[in-house]
Amino acid sequence: MCDVAVIGAGPAGIAASIYLKRAGLDVTLFEKDEIGGLLLNAHLVENYPGFPLGIEGKQLCRLMKRHLKKWNIKPIKKEVKEIIIEKNSFILNAQGSENTFRAVILATGTTPNELGIPVEQAVVGKLVFYEIKELLPKLKPENVCAVIGGGDAAFDYALNLAHNGTAVEIYFRSKKPKCLPLLEDRVKKCNAIRLRSSFIPIAINKREGKLEIKFRSTDGTTTHTSKPDYVLIACGRNSNNGLLPKDLEKNNISGLYIAGDVRTGKFRQIGIAVGEGTIAAMNVETYLRGLKT
Ligand SMILES: Cc1cc2nc3c(=O)[nH]c(=O)nc-3n(C[C@H](O)[C@H](O)[C@H](O)COP(=O)(O)OP(=O)(O)OC[C@H]3O[C@@H](n4cnc5c(N)ncnc54)[C@H](O)[C@@H]3O)c2cc1C
Repeated sequence: MCDVAVIGAGPAGIAASIYLKRAGLDVTLFEKDEIGGLLLNAHLVENYPGFPLGIEGKQLCRLMKRHLKKWNIKPIKKEVKEIIIEKNSFILNAQGSENTFRAVILATGTTPNELGIPVEQAVVGKLVFYEIKELLPKLKPENVCAVIGGGDAAFDYALNLAHNGTAVEIYFRSKKPKCLPLLEDRVKKCNAIRLRSSFIPIAINKREGKLEIKFRSTDGTTTHTSKPDYVLIACGRNSNNGLLPKDLEKNNISGLYIAGDVRTGKFRQIGIAVGEGTIAAMNVETYLRGLKT
């Protein structure tokens, strides 16, 4: 039986794994996608201590990856599909393999909220995206991109796209965006970005090979059609906690800990994820020591 499984190699899972390794425990880190998690989408991170000039999300992920390597932590590229809870152990089913662990840290982050309107499924992942990291490699300088959302992520995406030479339209339902004022100021100063407030998307389709988004104004008086090359949706995120038993809060399960965006869902920050990853790892250390005595 192995000591600890960490599920998810975003900032929370990375911080937890490094702590555990340094504590002398054997740690297995599962990641279904790329090392770095949601952070790979961040344009410029300016609030993570130690980088006074800010750092690109991708660059910070590269440093975190190097940090894992330094401690000889080799993430396993598999999606954990199921956690079976036994007495004093957990069986993880990860795409064909089953392994037993004494403790588990769940650091699976969030999933994007869908728009809740008809979206032609054939365009999702091709012309319509929920994360910028998937869109950036496809962009050409002449492209126009519509960003839907009025929060920090939407405005960070717009600045990132404009930085890459793309013309951007941001659509959001409120009169004023909900992002940090600092991001709003930067967007307003950027000629490549156009703000469209008080608009709600009602359908996304593909017509004659071109993307078409229909909007209506929040007061219901006007409609508007946009024909961008790509759409990026940033309308909030939800805890990706599907692996947890439904009654976890009632029955706190010894040896199972939750860290980062998956736990809070609401306040999504790297500092919080790293802190919670470390707390979870310290709890695991204490728990395993208790099992051995
Ligand atoms: C555009 C944007 C800009 C941002 N800018 C900032 C910023 O400037 N400052 C800041 O503090 N925060 C910022 N954030 C937020 C920050 O990126 C997140 O708070 C942070 O990444 C959360 O870390 P996490 O480890 O909890 O989750 P995540 O980073 O979401 O990582 C979770 C990982 O788990 C993996 N996973 C999920 N399910 C499974 C499974 N079943 N099996 C295996 N692996 C699985 C996922 O693939 C993912 O890699 C930004 C976010 C976005 C989208």
